Amino acid sequence: MIGMDPMRPEGDDRRTPPDRRRAGVIGWPISHSLSPRIHGFWLSRHGLDGSYEILGIEPERFHLVFPTLPGQGFAGVNVTIPFKEWVLDYATRVTPAVRKTGAANTLVFADDGTIEADNTDVAGFLMNVKSSAPDWSARAGPAVVIGAGGAARAIVWALLGEGAPAVTVVNRTRSRAEDLCRHFGERVRSADWQGLDGALDGTATIVNTTSLGMTGQPPLEVAFTPDRRRALVVDIVYNPLKTAFLAAAESNGNPTVSGLGMLLHQAVPGFSAWFGVRPEVDDGLWEAVVEGLQ
Ligand code: NAP
Repeated sequence: MIGMDPMRPEGDDRRTPPDRRRAGVIGWPISHSLSPRIHGFWLSRHGLDGSYEILGIEPERFHLVFPTLPGQGFAGVNVTIPFKEWVLDYATRVTPAVRKTGAANTLVFADDGTIEADNTDVAGFLMNVKSSAPDWSARAGPAVVIGAGGAARAIVWALLGEGAPAVTVVNRTRSRAEDLCRHFGERVRSADWQGLDGALDGTATIVNTTSLGMTGQPPLEVAFTPDRRRALVVDIVYNPLKTAFLAAAESNGNPTVSGLGMLLHQAVPGFSAWFGVRPEVDDGLWEAVVEGLQ
């Protein structure tokens, strides 16, 4: 829990020297975050004097604590549940990705007191897919997005931006998929959970954005058949690295992309803005983060 700088004795109101930059991740509960591993790796790789901290904020204290962060030397923060929408009340500028998804996961606190909000899941998803499957084109055919939560919004927006001719959103709770369709317009339609199998025929891209398949959750079961072999299959779940859904697609001969790369790529814009160095997503980072998966 934060409020005051936990590193400092009470009554000591000195600010962090400007050359030592702080960043972190705000959320509640938050102990499971892999972000400190990612940013910690890059800080050490680039020999930077900075920190990336886990900042658990109890929701009832959010409006008290959040405005104090820039004054405590924070250059910005990542944002996770439940604050991804809450922080928009404080944003001076929002990127088109935030405007379209209604949520932010990365904030930059500028020296002039302004706050920029971005949703880097959009770019993180695309960077991961393009670096893992360079021949993929969203334009090649319709896409199916399984799930209609926060991550689905970012991915539907990313696919539309890349020119997917149509996107079908299949979600357990149909009304949530319908809300998403209304938000994105006529190229996006919804289908029943029971209609998932039929929706997959003729698709170029299939993305799981549900939490099914995560360690401790039931698997996402989909019938991959030879006539569906051309579709790129993406799972944004990253723990385990290879879900049963991805393994089934791979056995069918589909090209596949796993979710960890999205998590790594979405972290790049924040680190660049806070610490002034554009970091690489490479094997060293990958190994450091995989060590942190339980
Ligand atoms: P969310 O907003 O809570 O949405 C969860 C989605 O999963 C909803 O569509 C929900 O359906 C569906 N779902 C949950 N349990 C289900 C079940 N038993 N059967 C069928 N559907 C089920 O969460 P989110 O933020 O979108 O995140 C979703 C997943 O993506 C998580 O596993 C998260 O870790 C992962 N993620 C990965 C990255 C990355 O960088 N790789 C980034 C963001 C998220 P209902 O609407 O019916 O509840």
